[in-house]
Amino acid sequence: MTDHGSSINPNKPSIARVYDYLLGGKDNYAVDREIGDVFKRDLPGSVAIAFANRSALTRAIGEIVTTTGIRQFIDLGSGLPTADNVHQVAQRHDPESRVVYVDIDPQVLVHGRALLEENERTRVVPVDVRDPEGVFTHPDTLELIDFEQPVAVVFSAILHHVNDEEDPAAIVRYWRERVPSGSHFFVSHFRSGNNPETEEAERVLQQTFGRGRWRTDAEIEALLDGLEILEPGIVPASLWRPEVVDSPRIGDGERELTVWERLIAAGLARKP
Ligand code: SAM
Repeated sequence: MTDHGSSINPNKPSIARVYDYLLGGKDNYAVDREIGDVFKRDLPGSVAIAFANRSALTRAIGEIVTTTGIRQFIDLGSGLPTADNVHQVAQRHDPESRVVYVDIDPQVLVHGRALLEENERTRVVPVDVRDPEGVFTHPDTLELIDFEQPVAVVFSAILHHVNDEEDPAAIVRYWRERVPSGSHFFVSHFRSGNNPETEEAERVLQQTFGRGRWRTDAEIEALLDGLEILEPGIVPASLWRPEVVDSPRIGDGERELTVWERLIAAGLARKP
């Protein structure tokens, strides 16, 4: 059961293309812009979520490369926005970094292959993240990733697209059991909140894609069972190790976060 076809369908909205539209990209169609415009028009401010999420992801990848020996990444539900993808951030710090992107959106796969054609240290694996065994055993994954060495597994804005009955915790557990101690897990996730904006955003996603499960901080932490959650914990993405230069007023107590900034949480965990 999936909301993605095997070929690009310009008449059916796609999560990846709506997200691309919100980020200012060009890989989207009128149906995607229609949904994106619902967010822009009825939920102004929601666009900031996509940027806050990408920004926390970028900081996390930078920190992983600069503070650990990890040079291999599996990015699950990667999308492929125009700039600052995981391989670009990681390879900026160390050109030897290797990245396996996993997504099932046909547009992401086409765009990804074009973007990565010249890059020998990246692969795009077209497998559903709900089939972790399929990702793990894919020849491209096995070629690029050495599972004897620590890996960074990235769940950026993907687990809220996995419903409870599809057991998102089991997906994380699968990867935790496959990677060695010292491996890192980045997660960002839509947070439940008792306010109309949060509820409306969840409703629009549910109505459009038939999926979208916002979770509380405790529920997000539970997904990382067996991992050590690193400082500062699961927090609004803008507060996850903010760079003072980027957001001088965030994190220093000068102002309250908006409802939108609270809607997306991020965290980094380590396998003990
Ligand atoms: N990870 C990127 C980020 O944080 O900027 C993109 C997040 S985007 C909101 C979600 C991505 O997950 C889309 O590219 C979508 O195609 C992909 N996706 C959704 N469900 C998936 C599934 N079951 N298997 C693989 N990819 C999936």
